[in-house]
Amino acid sequence: MRAELTQEDFEAQWRPIPLDHFPLPACSQGMILLKAFADAHPGPFEFIRPEDFVHYENEAFAGIEEWDAFARHCLSCHDCNEL
Ligand SMILES: [Zn+2]
Repeated sequence: MRAELTQEDFEAQWRPIPLDHFPLPACSQGMILLKAFADAHPGPFEFIRPEDFVHYENEAFAGIEEWDAFARHCLSCHDCNEL
């Protein structure tokens, strides 16, 4: 079973995001968590901004479990912190 999400997969599935403006925001584990957030909350996800992958403080996502899981991962993940 595939557990990796490549840049191509990401772009194919998340066409609505302005991907031209920012690169893949997380490692493959982080992307899985981000995808879980996008799938569970497609509405709020439309409001995602590039800086949300730096500060993880978008008020639109406050209290959303999947976002918190993603943010927690990125803040503690060496790979994600490098981006
Ligand atoms: Zn990571």
